[in-house]
Amino acid sequence: MEVLVTGGAGYIGSHVCVELLNSGCEVIVVDNFANSKPEALKRVQEITGKYLKFYEADILDKLALEKIFSENNIEAVIHFAGFKAVGESIKIPILYYNNNITGTLVLCEVMKMYNVKKLVFSSSATVYGMPKRVPISEHFPLSATNPYGRTKLMIEEILQDIYASDKQWSVAILRYFNPIGAHESGRIGEDPRGIPNNLMPFITQVAMGKREKLSIFGSNYATHDGTGVRDYIHVVDIAKGHLKALEKIMKTRGIETYNLGTGVGYSVLDLVKNFEKATNKKIPYVISEPRLGDIAECYANPIKAKTILNWSAEKNIQDMCIDAWRFQVNNPEGY
Ligand code: NAD
Ligand code: UDP
Repeated sequence: MEVLVTGGAGYIGSHVCVELLNSGCEVIVVDNFANSKPEALKRVQEITGKYLKFYEADILDKLALEKIFSENNIEAVIHFAGFKAVGESIKIPILYYNNNITGTLVLCEVMKMYNVKKLVFSSSATVYGMPKRVPISEHFPLSATNPYGRTKLMIEEILQDIYASDKQWSVAILRYFNPIGAHESGRIGEDPRGIPNNLMPFITQVAMGKREKLSIFGSNYATHDGTGVRDYIHVVDIAKGHLKALEKIMKTRGIETYNLGTGVGYSVLDLVKNFEKATNKKIPYVISEPRLGDIAECYANPIKAKTILNWSAEKNIQDMCIDAWRFQVNNPEGY
């Protein structure tokens, strides 16, 4: 089966490409390298020993997408391409809305033209806004507190409307919790530009000595140790969830949403301690002000994905720390 992966050179996309190739799929990637490097795709092929077809193009470029669909026999699309930095989305919302939303619209338009109606979409736990309780189930109320989150919410609604208008579509919306870690080969992983916004890449850079210390954003949350609690999940588990979702949409029609999380919450301090234990590295930290818009606790109820997709996370927090660290050590300057 030929699968188009938009944003396949990125952090999650590259891990999904590995799993797709290993499962025997033919993989076609479209990426404009807005936030990634071609090296990631080279390494995906090196890890798997398999060939991957690649187009350097922007998904906003309809003609380029049409060319990709006309030159291949694409049966399904896994759609990662988009911008993802919350802070940046507040500063440059027009770019975020255009890239994420218009990009998805152009993609869906071309999919429809070529009668390809199987889609897996990357959403985020951010669409739960400020959840009233945890663990979070898919039916919880949705809201967003920043432009990035709103792009995910709006795209989810757009996909619902597309399905409502044409019941031949089959769409899986995957709401990721906090993907961390890297492929166990140490060859692909998270490669943030500049100062990392997310916790794990910041921790690995502190451990490398690239940054002096971690700032823990707030220690007065209503959690077991006062620091924020999140559902960290190994990126390879996330990748495997996409294969299960793909399997499902190939057999069915409809639109379904699934949480991809472990169901277990770890605080910032828990993650620091686990990282120290896994790597024997000390992480100096200071407590600083809470980050605007952050919530105390966020973790998934992952039962729907378990029941319907037969997927659940297998790797533990130590695996996540060891693998994130291996990628950092092997690639001190990223790709
Ligand atoms: P990433 O930035 O590493 O990957 C996104 C890829 O899309 C990059 O390779 C980038 O170059 C490409 N891209 C962006 N705009 C494009 C365009 N217009 N045309 C072609 N390619 C384009 O991000 P990621 O962490 O791999 O995330 C993948 C998806 O998952 C994103 O949609 C993100 O919003 C979503 N998501 C990520 C997380 C996370 O914590 N990493 C959590 C929830 C949801
Ligand atoms: N965090 C922190 N210091 C950092 C980055 C993040 O204390 O330098 C905290 C943040 O407040 C949150 C958790 O770590 O409680 C996870 O943050 P991240 O940005 O990785 O993910 P998200 O906010 O999207 O859940």
